[in-house]
Amino acid sequence: MGAIDGAAMLAQVEAWSRVNTGTANLAGLAEQAALLAEAFAVLPGTVELVDPAPVTAIAADGSAYDKPHGRHVVVRVRPEANRRILLTGHMDTVFPADHAFQHLRWLDATTLNGPGVADMKGGIAVMLHALMAFEASGEASALGYDVLLNSDEETGSLASAALIAELAQGKIAALTYEPAALPDGTLAHERGGTGNYSITFTGRSAHAGRNPQEGRNAIVAAADLILRLKALENEDITINPAKLEGGAANNVVPDHAVLRFNIRPRTIEAGAAFEEALGQLLAAIEAGHEVATHRHGGVTRPPKPVDAQAQRLFDLVRQCGAELGQDIRWQRSGGVCDGNNIAACGVPVVDTMGVRGGAIHSPDEYLIVPSLAERAALSARVFARLAQGALN
Ligand SMILES: [Zn+2]
Repeated sequence: MGAIDGAAMLAQVEAWSRVNTGTANLAGLAEQAALLAEAFAVLPGTVELVDPAPVTAIAADGSAYDKPHGRHVVVRVRPEANRRILLTGHMDTVFPADHAFQHLRWLDATTLNGPGVADMKGGIAVMLHALMAFEASGEASALGYDVLLNSDEETGSLASAALIAELAQGKIAALTYEPAALPDGTLAHERGGTGNYSITFTGRSAHAGRNPQEGRNAIVAAADLILRLKALENEDITINPAKLEGGAANNVVPDHAVLRFNIRPRTIEAGAAFEEALGQLLAAIEAGHEVATHRHGGVTRPPKPVDAQAQRLFDLVRQCGAELGQDIRWQRSGGVCDGNNIAACGVPVVDTMGVRGGAIHSPDEYLIVPSLAERAALSARVFARLAQGALN
């Protein structure tokens, strides 16, 4: 195995984290994509910038609009190999260009605070340097791989989901470089899923005093749906009505409302059952309140169970860790990531191969700097085992 240069990794993480890559910051994402394309060009493959898929969203007035996204980086190495894997990471962060958290700061000699240092610019460095070490070993020729660095993971990968599914085809395994679930390196195992919905209600306006009986109140219809949605919750699904927009002046029966909500199904069946129940609820609301409804959205990341194939990949990562003196554990996670999408394609995936760190999605986000080289060594060993046929 080639040597892993922790100082070079740190320098890249610092440079990448200085570029703001909030998911809506297209200029920052373009700058980052160029930096990443240049960095990954050290690998013996092709580097390509891929346009985002079109994404529509619903505005507060109920109209649909196009949401722009940045381009994704795709690297392809030895596509002709019999054994191929998929490696994914995301370049975007949750911090917009106007957020106060834009700077790097050392918390102590080995802990770096900064936007994206753990989630997941550090993880991208882990992936790249593990691949460099693997390529320097004599074993790389037996394994091909595609790398995807998408621009929109933090908002649900709507502009890259089709690309993820396309790249997952024909792969024996996948590794995603989200930070470890715990600062001690514990991996995320099973994950629940997530779905986001916008429901538009169109009623009929009328004067609140003169002819209220002729009005059809969109806010009341939305409120009724909120209560009925909450009543659908059970141990396999939670539902969070998050935002209600609409309404009018106090003396007007409101004819317009938009309700946003999120669901977290624990199982694929629970997500499917919810979809069916929602259709029935909307029909009941339309009939009961004499309003029209329009539904937008759905389950964007299906639940990720760990089947026998995926467990073999977890076991392989643990074995490689043990050989390096790293005690690798795992636990169930309530969060979601691109690993959900990959698992839904039937490809075994371990999705927290990135750095050790914590407080992600907050201005306290930190990277445990020695974990850069540590986790790169772990991944490089996993690549070597996969090249040798560990999952055959
Ligand atoms: Zn992430």
